[in-house]
Amino acid sequence: MHTKKGGNCLKLAYVFVEHPIHHLDHTFTYCADGYTLTRGMRVQVPFGSKTIVGFVEKVEDISDEEVRRFPYTLKPIISQIDQFPLLNEELYELGNWMAQRYIAPKISCFQCMLPSKLKPSSTHGSIRMEAWVRICKQNDTKLTAKQQSAYEDLQKEKEMLRSVFYEKWKTPGKKLIALGLVEVFEKEKKAILENIEKNKEEEFILQEDQKKVIAQVEQEKHHRVFLLHGVTGSGKTEVFLRLASKEIEKGKQVLLLVPEISLTPQMVKRVKQRFGAHVAIYHSGLNAQEKYEQYQLVKEHKVQIVVGTRSAVFMPFDRLGLIVMDEEHDTSYKQDSTPRYHCRDIAINRGKYHDAKVLLASATPSLESYARAHKGVYALLQMPHRINGNFPSVRIVEMRKSVAKGESYLLSDALLDAIYDRLQKKEQVILLLNRRGYTPILRCISCGYVQMCPHCDVAMSYHKEEKVLKCHTCGYSMNVPTHCPNCHEASWRYLGLGTQKLEEFVQIKFPDARILRMDADTTTRKHAHENLLKSFDEGHADILLGTQMIAKGLDIEKVTLVGIVNGDALLNRSDYRSAEMTYDLLEQASGRSGRGEYKGEVIIQAYDPNHYAIQCAAHHDYLSFFQQEMQYRHLTGYPPYRYLVSMVFSSKNNQDIQQSAEAAMRILSKKENCKILGPAQLHKIRDEERCRILLKGKDEQLLIHYVKDVYDKHLQTKQKARLDIDLSPYMLD
Ligand code: ADP
Ligand code: ZN
Repeated sequence: MHTKKGGNCLKLAYVFVEHPIHHLDHTFTYCADGYTLTRGMRVQVPFGSKTIVGFVEKVEDISDEEVRRFPYTLKPIISQIDQFPLLNEELYELGNWMAQRYIAPKISCFQCMLPSKLKPSSTHGSIRMEAWVRICKQNDTKLTAKQQSAYEDLQKEKEMLRSVFYEKWKTPGKKLIALGLVEVFEKEKKAILENIEKNKEEEFILQEDQKKVIAQVEQEKHHRVFLLHGVTGSGKTEVFLRLASKEIEKGKQVLLLVPEISLTPQMVKRVKQRFGAHVAIYHSGLNAQEKYEQYQLVKEHKVQIVVGTRSAVFMPFDRLGLIVMDEEHDTSYKQDSTPRYHCRDIAINRGKYHDAKVLLASATPSLESYARAHKGVYALLQMPHRINGNFPSVRIVEMRKSVAKGESYLLSDALLDAIYDRLQKKEQVILLLNRRGYTPILRCISCGYVQMCPHCDVAMSYHKEEKVLKCHTCGYSMNVPTHCPNCHEASWRYLGLGTQKLEEFVQIKFPDARILRMDADTTTRKHAHENLLKSFDEGHADILLGTQMIAKGLDIEKVTLVGIVNGDALLNRSDYRSAEMTYDLLEQASGRSGRGEYKGEVIIQAYDPNHYAIQCAAHHDYLSFFQQEMQYRHLTGYPPYRYLVSMVFSSKNNQDIQQSAEAAMRILSKKENCKILGPAQLHKIRDEERCRILLKGKDEQLLIHYVKDVYDKHLQTKQKARLDIDLSPYMLD
């Protein structure tokens, strides 16, 4: 921070601070006399009237001469937080690279790499300490027998947690402290590695496909990106575990990425069975302290293998040998707030740095990845066979016809009969419906008014259990109005179908069936996912019903029927990726059926059964889907043929948006080799109006360059609207 007076300072520190308005790569300069600082350490600095935390970017000695010429007196740093850089060279460079690639403030990139306890924000929580005891003075007094034993015990252990010491030696222990022979001191709380019995018997005799894939990866001695296209149930996890154990034998670290926290328990269990306790786990369900502890485990080399979701890609590895990204197509690998990074990009970047192998795996690879593998940019590996030899058979029910015959629009007779059959045989059923709540729409019968969220242009969903309307976009909830605000009649109609209503319907049809529902409403509590799945796995329920969170990765032997209630719901989205998402969902969901020794079946209910996404999924024909979808993308000029960058302007005030969008258009209209779509008005979210400009082009770097131009001008001219940039955006609504 600059103040306007002469002065003398011989060492400068350039510091990034958290500041929403200031220029991207802009550091603030402070006087660092008397400090030993290096890049990547955190410091406390004065900023305006406040004290905030920042990251040191650079330290520089300046001469007397330069000091005299310096236009300001520099404010000194208030304190140094870290004795060692929090981010090592690799992570620091990664932060710089992210800031450039995703056009995001550097500080936001550093922030997202660190567990919140270590984030350089002013409100960072404190590190939790624990009380320990140790001997501080040789004994020269006469002790009782008990005191003597306590003393010797501690002497043997050198240090003990105070709580553990007290458990054994409460009274004598306290006396020893009072006598000044034992002292209490504080140490940072560490994660406890639970002791798990390794279960070697789990190691199978490898199948031919598995052997081949492992050999292909093993052969490569240097960094390489592999795409493993392995159908559901082809034994990919076993491949990951074998490859991981080879790296660990070499003294390398392994990162195993999974898309969602709901899948971590299953993967963690298998990894722990193979590698014992020495596994770190990192996902959003951990609290700040737990995350910090897991982070330290890696940093201090206490573990060699990490299982985690998106943010685990930033763990402080220093000798990575292998990164596995399971279900690489999954949308949760992309972060939807600044910096909007894709975990795959980061994984590949780190893989290059460490000369490590990166294994992307999926039964339904993203179009981008498969296209790259097709071109030879990634090495394509294939496992086309299921371990148990058979794929589930798929039946499509054309809902238009079945409803016309008088069957229920919720579940067709075909699906009801199949459920009945499994219940009789004591097998298990999964029902998938991509919509939570009871009904998605509340409409007035007399005037047609639909209750919208007052903060977003989105219809409010009715949640019967809590008897409220909820906005699934912003979370706002309200009671159901007794009368229509428009025509004052009291005649509401509940339209559409959500998981709550489906559960109610299935329970009425099958009164004795034990049903578990899994959606965002039933999984808010910690470990809720884990407990629900465990309960289903152990056979405490017959039917598991839920949103897409149950479609992925589950490996439950007794499931022989998967019913997809609304197979083409995703096709109706106005998104270029809607067919891909539909294919993924159907294929992944059907992959949950018949994984054990029983033959599985899948029933897809759909209104548009001839769509290629549904047909290809029904025939488990990824390649054919890929080819058709690529043609469509080619015709429409969407990824992977073109790159996209989205700029969304938002503000409560429409004029601010217009002004910013116009300024952006003036800059962009002069640019070549790119197509500009928009500005297009988007629906309101959280009381903010929004508008999008989309850039399309063949040269990704060029697009980034153009958008950076817009962004810089946007900041320089102090535009009031907020500008959010998204490279390769997923959702375009
Ligand atoms: P994917 O991840 O490809 O869907 P999994 O790795 O979950 O498949 O494997 C499917 C099932 O096959 C699991 O129950 C797993 O324990 C089992 N399995 C894997 N490899 C073998 C093998 N070589 N021999 C026998 N069973 C295996
Ligand atoms: Zn809302």
